[in-house]
Amino acid sequence: RTRSSDEMIRAEEPVLAHNYHPLPVVVARAEGAWVEDVEGRRYLDMLAGYSALNFGHRNPVLIEAAHRQLDRLTLTSRAFHNDRLAEFAEALAALTGLDMVLPMNTGAEAVESAVKVARKWAYEVKGVPANRATIVVAAGNFHGRTTTIVSFSTDETARSGFGPFTPGFRVVPYNDLAALEAAVDETTAAVLIEPIQGEAGVIIPDEGYLTGVRDLTRRAGCLFVADEIQSGLGRTGRTLAVEHEEVVPDVLLLGKALGGGIVPVSAVVARRDVLGVLHPGEHGSTFGGNPLAAAVGTAVVRLLETGAFQRRAAEAGVLLEDGLAALVGRGVVGFRSRGLWAGVDIDPAIGTGREISERLMREGVLVKDTHGSTIRLAPPLTITDEELRSALAALEKVLAA
Ligand code: PLP
Repeated sequence: RTRSSDEMIRAEEPVLAHNYHPLPVVVARAEGAWVEDVEGRRYLDMLAGYSALNFGHRNPVLIEAAHRQLDRLTLTSRAFHNDRLAEFAEALAALTGLDMVLPMNTGAEAVESAVKVARKWAYEVKGVPANRATIVVAAGNFHGRTTTIVSFSTDETARSGFGPFTPGFRVVPYNDLAALEAAVDETTAAVLIEPIQGEAGVIIPDEGYLTGVRDLTRRAGCLFVADEIQSGLGRTGRTLAVEHEEVVPDVLLLGKALGGGIVPVSAVVARRDVLGVLHPGEHGSTFGGNPLAAAVGTAVVRLLETGAFQRRAAEAGVLLEDGLAALVGRGVVGFRSRGLWAGVDIDPAIGTGREISERLMREGVLVKDTHGSTIRLAPPLTITDEELRSALAALEKVLAA
């Protein structure tokens, strides 16, 4: 007998360490924008694995690419070369307009790798004295959960109890060019920011901010590192969120959707004069760049090369924006959206983000809260207009109840 959802949730408690605060749903199957629980109840997935499922659950093109590769070769480690990696790097470099790729697995690893590369670049190219390099980051950031990354988080829940922390970071307010200018000096290796802050509640900076960061980092002779792990790969209606201001960073961090919701794939993508500071033996990852990841990652890039997913995100994004605008004053106090990505602030009198998420779950729609009374909407880019309208109708119903 298979265990019920409730039994499985109870069974986790003694054997699974906590990290997230999950909604009480146990998913057993999924396809497209839909997931199904153990009892066969269906839910519209409006979170999409925090944007890891941009192309939908079990996208047939990506599943086919994975199957083909599973039947040939899955892992070598980069102790040897594999016959899938060159094509992946060429495709990803071409898609992003940059030169070189460092394949890793998770988002946090891509961020860690970029921190190492930026520091090495500062010492070897910029001439910063040994061990003096600094990296400027933004308050409200989310870049992952490793000790170095939480060292420059401003979220006490993410940091508390995990010190001592890694030095070498300066935190400035997000969306504040004057503060950034004041923090950058001759020790600065890089400015590391999210072009849109996802976990902070889909915070979109003012028009001109990204251009300002680009100009400032160029003038100051430091790197602009854009963490597009959540914002990139079609989510905002463009391949990259930085494209909304036609900005090209020096270093781009990708993850989540790069693995097609099948395998963890992340990458540091940069110009040759930046990633070229890594020499044989100076960095590594057993799984980074494995042939299965490369095959899926290449198939993801091929999907994005058509532009269809970006166009769909932009088009459906209008529907999402209009639907949310209609709810302002009716339970929604404000929202920010770009493409198929929205942070929605719910009237605290109606409930916390968590409570709204639980009520939506009972209506067959899965979302997740970010902070306080904010929920985030990020459906698969394959969602239909009808599915999106039904999610908005469920939100309307929950807010009116
Ligand atoms: N950077 C950004 C902008 C993210 O949103 C996330 C995850 O939410 C990460 C990095 C960390 O990625 P991972 O959870 O794969 O380590």
